[in-house]
Amino acid sequence: AKEGGRNTYHFFSAEMHQQVLQRITLEQGLVQALERDEFHLCYQEQTELHSGKIVGMEVFLRWMNPELGLLRPADFLPLAEETGLILPIGEWVLRNACTQLRAWREAGLPAPRVAVNLSGRQLKHFRLVETICRVLDETGLSPRDLEVEVTENIISSDLPTAAERFEELKRIGISIAIDDFGTGISSLRNLQRLPIDRLKIDHSFLQGLATQKDAAPIIKTIIGMAHNLDLRVIAEGVETNDQRDFLHQQGCHEVQGYYFSRPVPAEEFRKLLNTL
Ligand code: C2E
Ligand code: CA
Ligand code: CA
Ligand code: CA
Repeated sequence: AKEGGRNTYHFFSAEMHQQVLQRITLEQGLVQALERDEFHLCYQEQTELHSGKIVGMEVFLRWMNPELGLLRPADFLPLAEETGLILPIGEWVLRNACTQLRAWREAGLPAPRVAVNLSGRQLKHFRLVETICRVLDETGLSPRDLEVEVTENIISSDLPTAAERFEELKRIGISIAIDDFGTGISSLRNLQRLPIDRLKIDHSFLQGLATQKDAAPIIKTIIGMAHNLDLRVIAEGVETNDQRDFLHQQGCHEVQGYYFSRPVPAEEFRKLLNTL
């Protein structure tokens, strides 16, 4: 037993050492990633169900790390958020997405509004709206071309600041979507107080549709609530035709997911726009 205990200790120690090393590597890499131009964005269409039209596109951040390969947000966003690096990175995402949208429009392509994810720190930062205004100005886009997505959890973690920022965003005409809706415990009163435009049904409910008997009523409830509150509603993570049909029947306005298209790099998304 003693022997096993010591082994266990060594095991954890080695693993912790590994984790510390990996954190340092990641953190140093993250500092340099912007100047080394290692980030890129992937685009995924958002489709209106009744018309079949592409009405939006969401951007997702990707990091091609020279040592670790292609990393997804889950691998590095927590660290970026913790260190504050998310602020310059987030500004890069915003500028890159808007510049791309502008370039596609100038090329005569029917590029729709772009949805950008915001982290908690970005939303709380007092300069957020100033930054957004500057980027819109630089790229000559209208506020109607931009939507921000904020998760329910970020909102409930600091409601007063979220409310303040939302009011500022609304004043300049930026549309606001509540991401991962249904996974947090935000009260309906808060929802009613905030100037939001769209609810995004969390993908976990759709995944449960075939197996969990409470998934369908939850989705129906969210869609019904959106209709009653005069909000738009979109479902993310749509992977099958059955899911699409169900959402259509329930009156969900928009959908997004692998069933329609995976998030793809700009060059590939351009090909899609070309067919429209
Ligand atoms: P999210 O905003 O809820 O994004 C949805 C995630 O599901 C994305 O993962 C997307 O690639 C993936 N996805 C899209 N369609 C499907 C589908 O049909 N099935 C399944 N299983 N997954 C699908 P990703 O790109 O790894 O992003 C994860 C999270 O990281 C995002 O969740 C978002 O919260 C955050 N994120 C991504 N890009 C950014 C960014 O530029 N800034 C900030 N602050 N956060 C970002
Ligand atoms: Ca999102
Ligand atoms: Ca989501
Ligand atoms: Ca999510």
